[in-house]
Amino acid sequence: MPVFLHDTMSRELRPLLTKPDKASFGMYCCGPTVYGPAHIGNFRTFILQDVLRRTLEASGIKVKHVRNITDVDDKTIRGALAAGQSLATFTQGWTDKFHKDCTALGLLPPHIEPGAVVHIPQQVAMIEALIKRGHAYVAKDGSVYFKVCSCSDYGKLSHLDRSKLQTQDTNSAGQANDADEYDRESANDFALWKAYKPEDGENFWPSPWGKGRPGWHIECSAMSLEHLGATFDLHGGGVDLCFPHHENEIAQTECATGIKGFAAHWFHSAHLLVEGDKMSKSKGNLYTLEQLIEKGFTPNEVRYALISGHYRTPLNFTLHGVENARSAIAKLERWVDRILPVAGFSRAEFVAPQVHELQTTWGRFAPAWEALQNDLNIPGCLGQIFTVVGEREDPTPAQARQDVCGLAKLLQALGLVLFVAKAEAAIPVEVAELGARRWAAKQGKDFAAADQLRKDLSALGWTMLDRKDGYDLKKA
Ligand SMILES: [Zn+2]
Repeated sequence: MPVFLHDTMSRELRPLLTKPDKASFGMYCCGPTVYGPAHIGNFRTFILQDVLRRTLEASGIKVKHVRNITDVDDKTIRGALAAGQSLATFTQGWTDKFHKDCTALGLLPPHIEPGAVVHIPQQVAMIEALIKRGHAYVAKDGSVYFKVCSCSDYGKLSHLDRSKLQTQDTNSAGQANDADEYDRESANDFALWKAYKPEDGENFWPSPWGKGRPGWHIECSAMSLEHLGATFDLHGGGVDLCFPHHENEIAQTECATGIKGFAAHWFHSAHLLVEGDKMSKSKGNLYTLEQLIEKGFTPNEVRYALISGHYRTPLNFTLHGVENARSAIAKLERWVDRILPVAGFSRAEFVAPQVHELQTTWGRFAPAWEALQNDLNIPGCLGQIFTVVGEREDPTPAQARQDVCGLAKLLQALGLVLFVAKAEAAIPVEVAELGARRWAAKQGKDFAAADQLRKDLSALGWTMLDRKDGYDLKKA
């Protein structure tokens, strides 16, 4: 059975299939803006995308996962200037921190992680194509705007009322419409290229329209085109990106290439509430992973809490919920400990990846796997897991072996780990950081840097074992 998923554009549950002519399932996800630590709301989205990827992989689909790094925009430039650092140094620091958190939370690294700055030439080329095709124009100050009225189906993703669209690069007060984020009521021509302003400091690049920098939306169009082509299988992001960001991505790519059908499927995850409240800086509830670790929780428990609600329903994240996640994981560990001797497996064999490759059957966990395949119903999947765990009768040895393999495969799809909470915490922060940087260097084919980082790890007494889709850090 294929994996079915709700699609924002058609508002229908649709199967996710690889096209016969394509080697892998192309998945583009909007990544973090690296100007500060990512909070749990950001991570919920990334973890849900990770579970989707793992679920597709568990169902036999080869995935090509691309997730970008926004390393130039209003926020990163303001942050770098305030910190007295170059933009590159400032954003690298926050990128490293992001990678470290991702590793701790069990996120598989994307196959490609493109950065906006190194893709400025591709963004400029795309803007040139848009001007040439009559979809963009140069304003008096050298900024370039996308002309929304030139795109006949602009607004199709968010079902926008096209009669309210206006074509103008300035508002009624005569100010430029160059904000990266705005609401549907002010849908207007938006900036593709922003002419240089003194507050940009040293951060400008040359272009045919003078020095400046790209607007935020164009980067994802340019980078998905570069790495996945004009059309690909799935685009993901938080629901807050649906308008205007994703709407603008569709318009930019389809108008620049002349090819319709930018992303075949749109995967949006709902908002996160914290203790029943909207997340905001002023409320002080934008938890980071570090803050939750300081409160005594493990990243694995945080991950469990963040995936425990359905992705299309806003999740109310509470500290009580993370405590419940801890109890749930402990309950699973007790059950596995009871069943393993019956199945004839050791704990080490259970956590080793070979176990779930041993058999393709799901045992009594088949309904849990079906829940995951049906619109990524993670709470349904967890519910089915605990139905089996709650059964009084112990299985026969043959059934126990199937159960163990089925559960190991499910946990792999959910990205949850058992019995390793203590070992996980024992990896020092600097080692985890070096590991994440080395993996990123290797992904970027910077083998010299990767080699040096391996030496740095070895000097600290650690080795890194590479797998096809990730790595393990082990004490030498
Ligand atoms: Zn994006």
